[in-house]
Amino acid sequence: MTSVPFIEPLDDAAAARAAHKLFVRTYGHGPAVVWAAPGRVNLIGEHTDYNGGLCLPIALPHRTYVALAARDDDLVRVVSDVDESAVASADLQGLHAGEVDGWSAYPVGVAWALRTMGFADVHGFDAAFVSCVPLGSGLSSSAAMTCSTALALDDVYGLGFGDSDEGRMTLINAAISAENDMAGASTGGLDQNASMRCSAGHAIRLDCKPGLDAHESVKPEPFDLQAHGLELLVLDTCAPHQLNDGQYEARRRTCEQACALLGVATLREIADEVAGLPREGEADAGSVGAGSVGAGRAGANGMGAGDAGAHDGAMTRERRLEKVYGALEDDLMMRRVRHVISEIGRVDECIAAFQEGDMRRVGQLFNASHDSLRDDYEVTIPELDVAVNVARQCGAYGARMTGGGFGGSIIALVDAGRSQAVAQAIADEFARRGFHEPRALAAWAGAAAEQVA
Ligand code: ADP
Ligand code: MG
Repeated sequence: MTSVPFIEPLDDAAAARAAHKLFVRTYGHGPAVVWAAPGRVNLIGEHTDYNGGLCLPIALPHRTYVALAARDDDLVRVVSDVDESAVASADLQGLHAGEVDGWSAYPVGVAWALRTMGFADVHGFDAAFVSCVPLGSGLSSSAAMTCSTALALDDVYGLGFGDSDEGRMTLINAAISAENDMAGASTGGLDQNASMRCSAGHAIRLDCKPGLDAHESVKPEPFDLQAHGLELLVLDTCAPHQLNDGQYEARRRTCEQACALLGVATLREIADEVAGLPREGEADAGSVGAGSVGAGRAGANGMGAGDAGAHDGAMTRERRLEKVYGALEDDLMMRRVRHVISEIGRVDECIAAFQEGDMRRVGQLFNASHDSLRDDYEVTIPELDVAVNVARQCGAYGARMTGGGFGGSIIALVDAGRSQAVAQAIADEFARRGFHEPRALAAWAGAAAEQVA
């Protein structure tokens, strides 16, 4: 059997030269700037961003590079090294949401979004993209593209948002809008925040609670696996495109319906509330019950913690969850909500385990996350489950799908030097089952999007 290919990150200087070259070859003159934005791997906290929850991404060393120049008119022309002979174009004048087809909707959508947000000075541009982020693998090539474009446009049109973490939040909103509104690809913000706001050697604790400022929403967390003698293997299952149309939207809708039934704005409110309650059997339950987080905010159905606590005095996490689940429509909605609430809780547990150097616990949390995504949220496919199972059998501390699911990649926490062997064992099992040949990459915490030329 052939050995699993590992995708190496491009060297910044070489990739900047390649993007520059593609630009000159395509447009006959030189670009003004070259920016790079990374793909990302989410360590834990999946399908939590649009629920106001927590995530823990790292930026990959794998990046998308864009060579870009402003234009005097409102024309946009884009080319990518995926197919260097195909130049796509669009006119920003009179452009509406959803009017651009194909991959160019992502970069065109960024300029359109900035203009829609009121930045009237933004006009057309020419751009050439070179990338080593695998496309459609759950590693956010789309955010790498929109974020590199947003920063390059910020630069050539002098908006001044790229230099600060706070300013980048404006550009992130434009990148999210490009995906949601122009490309029609629903996204909750994790990818764009990771690409723009991570730092080398760190994961970020990304808090998606609505209304937080830059400082409150991101906390860097040291992420140095080498110091623990470990590696993070990322394996792209290369599963063929799934018929997942509407699945992501359906999950979001179910969560919104659950919120309406529970009388909360986001499921994060419930997650915070239960996290503040003692577990069954823990001492001193009575004093915590009625006065815990969320007390006094009775839901539409009279289900607030203060209300419940007043009746039986000693509200516990388990009892509160039982009431929450009991207020939901059916078993399916209960399982969707159970995933979101438990997954939000796992993020801070995982951060604590990292801080204590308890890598076995980190691995257990990875496993619990995957199992919840498989059984409760139902976003895995056989390729993801098989890859995770083989990684665990090969001695991984933990393994889980990463990204939205329905295909894409898994991550596995393995002893240093084991990535190749684990990836090969997965590839061999894939071959036996007639799955597509997977590919892999070694992940470490890279830098956020930045100018490279
Ligand atoms: P992911 O973001 O996980 O890679 P998505 O489906 O969200 O998966 O985004 C993949 C899409 O983004 C591609 O199908 C393509 O339309 C676009 N894209 C991303 N990077 C590039 C690139 N370098 N060149 C052309 N298109 C790209
Ligand atoms: Mg994407």
